Amino acid sequence: MSRIFMSKADISDAEEEAVSRAIRSGWVAPLGPEVDAFEVEIAERVGVAKALALSSGTAALHLALLHLGARPGVAVVVSSMTFAASANAIAYTGADPVFVDSRDSDGNVSPDLLFESIDTLRAGGTEVIGAMTVDLIGRPCDYSVIEAGLEERGVPLLEDAAEGLGAYHRGKAVGSFGRAAALSFNGNKIMTTSGGGMLLSNDEELVDRARYLSTQARQPVSWYEHTEIGYNYRLSNILAAIGRAQLSRLDGMIARRRELRRRYMEVLGDLDVHFLGTADTDGDDVENCWLTGIVLGDSIDLTPDDVQVEMNARDIEVRHLWKPMHLQPVFANARRFVDGTSERLFRRGLTLPSGSEISDADVERVVGAIHDVLTGA
Ligand SMILES: *Cc1c(COP(=O)(O)O)cnc(C)c1O
Repeated sequence: MSRIFMSKADISDAEEEAVSRAIRSGWVAPLGPEVDAFEVEIAERVGVAKALALSSGTAALHLALLHLGARPGVAVVVSSMTFAASANAIAYTGADPVFVDSRDSDGNVSPDLLFESIDTLRAGGTEVIGAMTVDLIGRPCDYSVIEAGLEERGVPLLEDAAEGLGAYHRGKAVGSFGRAAALSFNGNKIMTTSGGGMLLSNDEELVDRARYLSTQARQPVSWYEHTEIGYNYRLSNILAAIGRAQLSRLDGMIARRRELRRRYMEVLGDLDVHFLGTADTDGDDVENCWLTGIVLGDSIDLTPDDVQVEMNARDIEVRHLWKPMHLQPVFANARRFVDGTSERLFRRGLTLPSGSEISDADVERVVGAIHDVLTGA
C-alpha cells in the first residue's frame, strides 16, 4: 500500500505530450506561444478581460498590490485564515497587513469584521488601500455582501483566488470579483503547472503595468533601459503547456474531488464533525472542493494532532487547517480584528486527502480510516 497524500498533482499523458510539444517547438524560455494561449484560455474560463501568467500566485498578489498603491505607511486588510503567501505579498510592499477573522460556517472572512476593520482604521487616520479576500480551500467568499460594502467605502478588492479556480458565487466565477484576482498553479492546487500563477483583471492598465514590472521593468526600446526596479516573475513556456493540458481536464478533476467530498459526507455524516462549506452548492455557491475540511465537534475527544498521528500510522496524510496569520510569530505585532473564530477552527480543524488522482480503492481506504480514527474503532 502506498502513501495517500493530501492533494497530489494529477498528471496524465496529456501533460507529458504538452511538455514535449513545447520543447519541440523550440520555445524553451519564459514567454512563448504556450504562455500567450494559456493566458487567453484562463481569461475565457474565468470570464475576465485580461490575464498575466506568472511564476507564482504570490507574484500575482505582489504585483496587484503594487498597482493598488501598497507601500510603507498604508494598510491592507486581509483574511487571517489563509496561507502565509497572502500576508507575505503585502509585507513585500512595505504596507501593513491587518488581519480579519473568519465566519464560522466556512472559515472565509467575516464581512462584518472586514467592514469594521476598515472603518476603525480610517477613523484612526490609517489609509486602507485595499482588502484581500481568500476563497478558503475552494469555497467562495460572500462576494454579494463584500463587493457592495467595499464599494460603499471606496476600497478596492483583491481576490486571493489561489485555492478557488472552478468555484462560483451566484453563477460568477471565482477569480472575476474585485479589481484583480490571483490564481496559483502550485503543485498541490486544483490544477498545476508544477509552479506558477496568474493575475486576472478587467483593468487593462493594471495588467499592462504588472506585465511590465514582471519582466524587470524593461522600457520598450532596443537596448536594456530601466527607469524603475522590476521583477523576474514570468511563467516559462514549458510550464504554460502543462497548464493548458491541466485546464482541459479541470472539470473532470473537480468532479472527482466533489465525488470524494460526497463520500466523506456519507461516511462521516453521523459523527460530530462539521464540514467547512457544503458538499456542492447551497444555492448561491458552487465549491471546487479543492480540499475537504472538517472541524471536530466537542464530543470528539481527539485533537487534530491525534488524528494526524493516527492517520499517519495508516500512511495517510491529513493536515491542520491554516494557522491564522494573527497567531503567527512573524506577524505578532500586526493589527487584528478578531473574535476567536479562526483560532477555534485552527484548534479543531483538519483537511483530508482530496486529490483527484486518488483511486477508488484508496478513497475507500481513506474514508474507512478516518471513520475508524474518529470513532476510536
Ligand atoms: C497557494 C496559495 C498562495 C500562493 O500561491 P503560490 O503559487 O504558491 O505562490 C496564496 N494564497 C493562498 C490562499 C494559497 O493557498
